[in-house]
Amino acid sequence: MPLEEYAAKRKFEKTPEPPPGKAKSKPGALFFCVQRHDATRLHYDFRLEVNGVLKSWAVPKGPSLDPAVKHFAAHVEDHPFDYGEFEGNIPAGNYGAGSVMLWDRGTYELLGDAPAQEQFARGDFKFRLHGEKLKGDFAIVHMKGRGKGNEWLLIKKRDDFAVTGWDVEEHAWSVLSGRTQQEIAQNLPARKSKRKTAGASDRVWESDRPAKKAAKAPAKKSAAKAAPKKKVASTSPRSKAPVKRKSPKP
Ligand code: MN
Repeated sequence: MPLEEYAAKRKFEKTPEPPPGKAKSKPGALFFCVQRHDATRLHYDFRLEVNGVLKSWAVPKGPSLDPAVKHFAAHVEDHPFDYGEFEGNIPAGNYGAGSVMLWDRGTYELLGDAPAQEQFARGDFKFRLHGEKLKGDFAIVHMKGRGKGNEWLLIKKRDDFAVTGWDVEEHAWSVLSGRTQQEIAQNLPARKSKRKTAGASDRVWESDRPAKKAAKAPAKKSAAKAAPKKKVASTSPRSKAPVKRKSPKP
């Protein structure tokens, strides 16, 4: 039973998390997801489908699109395939108590010739993500002979999707419900429209209007900067005289 550890840590009559047993039923593209988990410490859970279950890592600083960043990822127990749809609150007193946001999801392609299980086993897993937030080539690499043996690094490869200085916390909304972590924790309903932005102001509950305005703001700002033109021409009498202008006809 690959999900024994997962099951042993949880009491399914007390947590809304899915019980094990359901491996992925439909073949096709490989699945990945990332959950933002506000447990004892806020972290991101990065999960890749391998052999019908989700290989999982807890990433304290979250994934990044910046290739210069190598974030520590602690390998944790396999999760059931159904966990990829999970968002909600794990009640106090349970393992991993706190709110869980479905932060990103999509499919992934294996890079290289080796099957997923083999790449995982040798501790050098290369893949291309097609998520809503995470896109492009990544690797997750086991740091062998270090500490407890569960230490890996999550690394973005250089490609067209790489973004220098990318900040995971600027993308802190759910791809499932559009909610912020706080809205999930408060069991507020899903937002009606899909979000494209989230920032510090979203961590305080407000309507979703400020985020939309914020998204449009940069365009207005740059237009405003370009706009100011000194009215030298109109105040200068000379400029009114059509010195060399070839005016066709009045
Ligand atoms: Mn977690």
